[in-house]
Amino acid sequence: TVRIGVLAVQGDVREHLAALTALGAEAVTVRRPSEVEQIDGLVIPGGESTVMDKLVRAFELREPLVRRIAEGMPAYGSCAGMIMLADRIVDARPDQQTLGGLDVTVRRNAFGRQVDSFEQDLEYVWSDPDSSGTVHAVFIRAPWVEEAGADVQVLARVSEGAAAGRIVAVRQGNLMATSFHPEVGGDRRIHAEFVSIVRAHRLQQSGASQSPERE
Ligand code: GLN
Repeated sequence: TVRIGVLAVQGDVREHLAALTALGAEAVTVRRPSEVEQIDGLVIPGGESTVMDKLVRAFELREPLVRRIAEGMPAYGSCAGMIMLADRIVDARPDQQTLGGLDVTVRRNAFGRQVDSFEQDLEYVWSDPDSSGTVHAVFIRAPWVEEAGADVQVLARVSEGAAAGRIVAVRQGNLMATSFHPEVGGDRRIHAEFVSIVRAHRLQQSGASQSPERE
């Protein structure tokens, strides 16, 4: 089985642990630098990215997280987690940093102050052949992806309203992010997509480390 950490300095940690456990992964909280070394993948939950950034730095998690993401560890960020994975952010606090990894520009609180939260059914580009259909997406003071680099795959866009067409789910290699909160409401398909990425990466790695003995 794969061990997936949920960054647990701030935000809705419990819902992600429950979703990952239900999918058969070993789900653990990550609060210390040593715990960053013991996971096959990482979920960064929703919450408040400015606070999360401060705590990540205060707990000395920034360096190990940035390094492991750069080394190819799969990571999935939801809402504030999407902000944390973005290489560039707009409407950030002056000293706000991200972990980076995703070649995107993300706008914080993009849907405007009047629109605190809303829900929409979105078309989603599934990798799992068993998954199909729309996602019921819950947005809470959500960001959107303002610009995405050439290697970034767009998985979902806002379907209706003033923001129709805005990018709200992306993947680039082993990194995945959604503006919305799939952990709300019991739909496990997006977590399942991430667990598959983690399993594939884990297999690839054990294959690579075993191959010399197999000759
Ligand atoms: N607006 C929050 C931020 O900037 C994100 C909100 C959320 O994660 N639900 O971090």
